[in-house]
Amino acid sequence: MNSSSHKQQLLNTLYTPFKECSGCHFNMPKATQIVFGEGNPNSSLLFIGEAPGREEDLQGKPFVGRSGKLLNRIFDAIGITRKDVFITNIVKCRPPNNRRPLPQEIKAGKPLLYSQIKIIHPSVICTLGSAALEGFLGEPVKITQKRGNPISWNNITIIPTYHPAYILRNPRELQTFIHDIDQAVRLSKET
Ligand code: URA
Repeated sequence: MNSSSHKQQLLNTLYTPFKECSGCHFNMPKATQIVFGEGNPNSSLLFIGEAPGREEDLQGKPFVGRSGKLLNRIFDAIGITRKDVFITNIVKCRPPNNRRPLPQEIKAGKPLLYSQIKIIHPSVICTLGSAALEGFLGEPVKITQKRGNPISWNNITIIPTYHPAYILRNPRELQTFIHDIDQAVRLSKET
């Protein structure tokens, strides 16, 4: 068995207890299902967003709505595909009315996220938006100040950047966003 399928097996085992959405592991009674994450478990680059939106909640996959389509276009421009990376969220279930996850919801989702990180063992994590970064730093952040500046966390380099939904509302920041993602991709290939 190669290490890729071994990691996939470990992720499957981690996912199993959450698959049946009976009762709510994360106190999101309106969510359809948990969105665990998907991609290449052997990748050295992990993307972490905020929380599933409506489409993600319905399909059970991360970043398949408008934000995901933008992310796909950027991956395409940089010359990678979703199969080259792993993508998940700091909060695994859709918050009611797509509201920003509450600090206690981020806290509740962290053990599962940390278990995923332990299995995937990326060298670089690209956080998308302030909620994902706050999950790591445990304090409120201004993403405009933090984006593009690498942060060292448990031997992993975190590259914070904007959330794609922010770029859809502020297209003037598109080039900066592409630059940050490209930086994360390049760094993950070096380490
Ligand atoms: N926004 C997120 O933060 N994550 C998703 O999976 C989709 C939209």
